[in-house]
Amino acid sequence: MANRKVKKFSIKMQKKLVVLFILLLAMFIGLAVRLVWITRENETDYQKQVLSQQQYTSTAIPYRRGNILDVKGTRLATSEKVYNLVIDAKVMNYKSQYLEPTLKALSENFDLDMGEVREHVTKNKSSSWYVPLRQLTYEEISGFQEAQSADSNIQGVWFEEEYRRIYPYNSLAADVIGFSGRDNVGKYGLEEYYNDILNGIDGREYGYLNDDLNLERTVKSAVDGYDLHTTIDANLQMIVEKYLKQFDDEQKDSFTSGNGAENTGCVMMNVNTGEVLAMASYPPYDLNDVRNTDSLLGTRLLEEVTNAAGYTEIRKTDTIITQEVVNGLSEEQLYVNLNYLWQNYCITGTYEPGSTAKPFTVAAALEDGVIAPDLNLECNGVMEIGDYDIKCHNGPEGWLTLEQAVANSCNVSMMKIAQALGKDEFCEFQRIFNIGLKTNIDLAGEARTASLVYVADNMGPTDLATNSFGQNFNVTMIEMIAGFCSLINGGYYYEPHVVNKITNVNGATVQNIEPRVLKQTISESTSELIRQYCRAVVEYGTGKTARPAGYMIGGKTGTAETIDPNTHKRSETEHVVSFIGYAPADDPQVAIYVVVDRPNSDKQGNARYATKIVRNILTEALPYLNIFMTEEVTEEEQQELDALQQSIIGQYAPTAPEGSQEDGQGAEGGEGGTGEGAGGEGGDPQGSGQSPEGGSPEGNGQEPEGGSQGEGSEGGQGEGGALPATQGESVPNPDIPVNPNLPTNPNMEE
Ligand SMILES: [Zn+2]
Repeated sequence: MANRKVKKFSIKMQKKLVVLFILLLAMFIGLAVRLVWITRENETDYQKQVLSQQQYTSTAIPYRRGNILDVKGTRLATSEKVYNLVIDAKVMNYKSQYLEPTLKALSENFDLDMGEVREHVTKNKSSSWYVPLRQLTYEEISGFQEAQSADSNIQGVWFEEEYRRIYPYNSLAADVIGFSGRDNVGKYGLEEYYNDILNGIDGREYGYLNDDLNLERTVKSAVDGYDLHTTIDANLQMIVEKYLKQFDDEQKDSFTSGNGAENTGCVMMNVNTGEVLAMASYPPYDLNDVRNTDSLLGTRLLEEVTNAAGYTEIRKTDTIITQEVVNGLSEEQLYVNLNYLWQNYCITGTYEPGSTAKPFTVAAALEDGVIAPDLNLECNGVMEIGDYDIKCHNGPEGWLTLEQAVANSCNVSMMKIAQALGKDEFCEFQRIFNIGLKTNIDLAGEARTASLVYVADNMGPTDLATNSFGQNFNVTMIEMIAGFCSLINGGYYYEPHVVNKITNVNGATVQNIEPRVLKQTISESTSELIRQYCRAVVEYGTGKTARPAGYMIGGKTGTAETIDPNTHKRSETEHVVSFIGYAPADDPQVAIYVVVDRPNSDKQGNARYATKIVRNILTEALPYLNIFMTEEVTEEEQQELDALQQSIIGQYAPTAPEGSQEDGQGAEGGEGGTGEGAGGEGGDPQGSGQSPEGGSPEGNGQEPEGGSQGEGSEGGQGEGGALPATQGESVPNPDIPVNPNLPTNPNMEE
């Protein structure tokens, strides 16, 4: 027998046993590793669970998400403590004398369906968790709390604390701020970029029986999130948004139905620090009600399609969104469109800059030494590059100084300058000016443009020529204004930023974010020349209409065509117009950039759509910034200023709900914040109505425009508000090859 048994364990079987043993061993090791891993990963959870088995109570204490403040401490985003009403039927039924007084107190202090509550507490006597009301304010619960402290028979009701995110100014600076919901996960803007800084750590209150069976409580306090101190000035922001809205009011439905433009954006920046003072795109949306579809009305419907390569992409359709369209949208379709609305055009939209790129071209050539400041250039109206004739929109201009070439926005001069510079240097200077690179502004969602600019290796002569005047490459607004500031401030490229200080709940500084000079793009002397040329643009060139009464500013206009998605050629009717500038002309303090993407007009290619917005904003913003007038004001301008003064009286005061400035309880402030308050759209109830539209100089034809070279196409007319037929800064040759990398669906990057 023994022999047999031994035989049973043949070599083969022994091998099998060893394998089995090893397998089991491996499984145990695996389990052990997994166990260690699980306990490590979930240590706090397990601790809590273990605690919860010994404890009497354990309540989470929520942290408070940090505030977002403007440069003067005005709260743009804040979190208000709110209370959820919790009914503990078990306690309420613990003694018979508790039930009726408690139900009575509930009915007297809250708007509750008492039949429902009574049914719940009588049918679910062991239930400890029933929440009939959420997010009550302190005022709303205080009556009950008083009753509760006066009557010890009121039992089984308590209040769970949480925070509600509130934006006291509704849509103001929506693009910059972004939003965050109950989950404290920020979306877009500062809320997303600084999500971890704004969030804190939940605390916990434990109650447990000690060795003597006495109830002891320990509290692990919540750690509140940090506050963000931004460089945004809420007043400037209101001014900017007011005039973007005014533009939309004037221009919407004027050629086709829908908004005043596909996109309109404005950025104001401190020239000498890179701090963003105001940033907005139109249309805005209400941060307290982000899914409200009203802001979509008048915009172009987007659809998600699968393209030939099998990828899904977002495309613009020809449909303008109306309420009817909204009603027919599926949840996904709605989300695609809301998602686009929530984006910040100033950092995500990409487009061809057009002639605002000319100061960059000239600065590069001067800095490189291939041209001298006393250079004269001959424009005979057209230049042959490769197989193409590229015209100057001005026609033959004869001999021009460098200043005149910029002031008149002469394309031929720019092509000659770029030729002198050569493609290698041209591309290198684009990188020096940070064109094609992210600026790394502290906002979520900045577009990449690396694939939308040329590198020397793939740049042909026509590409160099068209790039010289701002075509065939794409930029973002933030890229342009950050680079432009360096052109005019002595050559210092500052990293654009929005937050300059982070503090904790006690107000102590956690981090100071100082302006950061990343590089010197050009020399002081080149910068001085660029200021001279940009001033000439406004003094006698294409940018006269941007000048606010009483001030001299510098800047540059821009017009570019969009690219037709079907033909992949330049559209002859669709344009992106812009103005980039600064004030004062002799000592730049503040830069401004306005882009109007496809204004709603049968003649889109007119930079005046942008210069007029700039002029309106600066007229109101410069006095606010304590920048003094240096220029004579004509009688007519004075009348205009007086009328403006009338319209803005009171504008800076009562736009926010009470309590949004102070760091107080803030409960009542929040209530106002969710309403359709006045703040968002500029907060000026009389604003657009009383503004002296018809009386503004750019509309009345008094300025002697149209005579001098280069602006014939721009000036002259001016029956209030009606703009001249063409402005013509773009290339009137749609056959010139288009950079194949440029998106045909503009502004749909990322
Ligand atoms: Zn010319």
